[in-house]
Amino acid sequence: MNRPKKIDPRLRRHLQSLKRAGLEYVSASRLEMPLDELLAESPGPAPSPSATEPPTQSATTMLFDDAQSGARPPVASASNKDEALAILSAEVAECVRCPELVASRSRTVFADGGSHAEICFVGEAPGADEDATGVPFVGRAGQLLTDMIVKGLKMSRQDVYICNVIKCRPEGNRNPTWDEMINCQTHLERQLDIVKPKVIVALGKHSCAFLMGRKPEQTPIGKLRGHWTEYQGIPVMPTWHPAYILRGGPSGPAKREFWNDMKEVMRKIGRPVD
Ligand code: URA
Repeated sequence: MNRPKKIDPRLRRHLQSLKRAGLEYVSASRLEMPLDELLAESPGPAPSPSATEPPTQSATTMLFDDAQSGARPPVASASNKDEALAILSAEVAECVRCPELVASRSRTVFADGGSHAEICFVGEAPGADEDATGVPFVGRAGQLLTDMIVKGLKMSRQDVYICNVIKCRPEGNRNPTWDEMINCQTHLERQLDIVKPKVIVALGKHSCAFLMGRKPEQTPIGKLRGHWTEYQGIPVMPTWHPAYILRGGPSGPAKREFWNDMKEVMRKIGRPVD
């Protein structure tokens, strides 16, 4: 096993938060071990870097044994996507750009899924279940999304990448504000830059508005859904948010439209489904 000698303090704090939420194991391409063991092995100092501070070479090189050569590149050009995402996730966990969200969150909710995914689902903001677990789309709406991925697309959640425009739960599950979405933009962009999905699925009005650079009140999702748009050169399929579909019932039109949009997405990546 490739045991890390030191862990970046930001990653340590993020892992501790995940551990409190019930996670017992971490798995990355060159690291697989019980979280207890990992956290026990490397006490390390814990400076508090600023939320906007870019990851440093030393933060990256501290993570794994073989990084001691000092040859590891900075996060932006890391060849190992899992490692780059782990570092970014730890950095996001320290973010304090939105004081109101910092006060309302239990933890940041970074992403779920595989770093080599072709499809990236982008929701709006974590809800209570996501805030409690640190995993996006695990509540009722998340179950619907998961069913669609597993039963409809015949994929697992690990085959896709799932995240939100903002990484912290707003109080009372209110919609994210424009400023909050802007504050979180670099986090999302860096995630996309690492994963490099072939397509993005924008779930709901706020995600769609943000990715299209429009105010939510000028984003008629009912009209825009089903029509390709683009975010930073990546094709985006706007569609209904699963929570909206739930409100319309299991055989409502939104569910059929959502499925049609997903078929379009699968065609786009060259894996058509019926
Ligand atoms: N709704 C979202 O937009 N994101 C989640 O993670 C959960 C519910």
